[in-house]
Amino acid sequence: MKLTQLIIATGNAKKLKEFDRLLAPLGIEVLPQSAFNVPEAPEPHCTFLENALAKARNAAKHTGLPALADDSGICVDALGGAPGVNSAYYAGAHKSDADNNAKLISDLHGVSNRRAHYTAVLALVISEHDPEPIIAEGRWYGEVIDTPRGAGGFGYDPYFLDTEHQLTGAELPLDLKAKRSHRGRAFDKLLAELQSRGLT
Ligand code: IMP
Repeated sequence: MKLTQLIIATGNAKKLKEFDRLLAPLGIEVLPQSAFNVPEAPEPHCTFLENALAKARNAAKHTGLPALADDSGICVDALGGAPGVNSAYYAGAHKSDADNNAKLISDLHGVSNRRAHYTAVLALVISEHDPEPIIAEGRWYGEVIDTPRGAGGFGYDPYFLDTEHQLTGAELPLDLKAKRSHRGRAFDKLLAELQSRGLT
C-alpha cells in the first residue's frame, strides 16, 4: 500500500503548512482534520508520545483515513523540563502565545542557565487501532533569550535561540527551520520508516 492521503491531526495552521511542505513532494496529499469536523482529542497524558498517539488515533477514528499527529513543546533545563507537554497551555487554557512567552520569561527572571530544547513526537497510524504505529522523535537544542527576535515561526520561537546559527526560531528561514527543528528531525526519521515499510 502507498500512502496518497494523510489527515494531519492539528488545528495549528502553521504546523499544517510545515507538514504540507514536507509531504507534498512525496505525492502525499495533506488534509486538515478540520475539513472532517474531527473533535479535538483530549491530551491528558504526561508524555509527548502518548498525546501524539491519542491525537492520531482520534483523527483516524473520525475520518477512516491514515492520520499523522505531532505533540511538541519546549523543555527548559532550569525549570525541570517545564513547560514540556503543557507548552500550549503554560499560561492557561486560553492557549495564548504572548501569555505563554511572558510567563516563561518571568519564570526565568534572574536565572543564568538558559539551556532548553524543543521536542516533537510524530505518530502515524494507518487506521484507528493500528497495532504498529510509526513513531519518530526529534529534538532541537538552544537557549531561551529575554528579548524576542524575528517575525516568523510561532509559539516560543522569538525567544528560542538556535545557538549554532545565532538565530531565533522566528528568524530562521523556513527551509532552514525545517532542517534544524525538532519537527524536521522527527520528520526525517518518519520518512525513513515510511520508505522501509514501502508506504511511499
Ligand atoms: P501541541 O499542539 O499540543 O503539540 O502544542 C505544542 C506547543 O508547543 C505549541 O503551542 C507551542 O507553544 C510550542 N511549540 C511546539 N513546536 C513549536 C515550534 O516549532 N515553535 C514554537 N513553539 C512550538
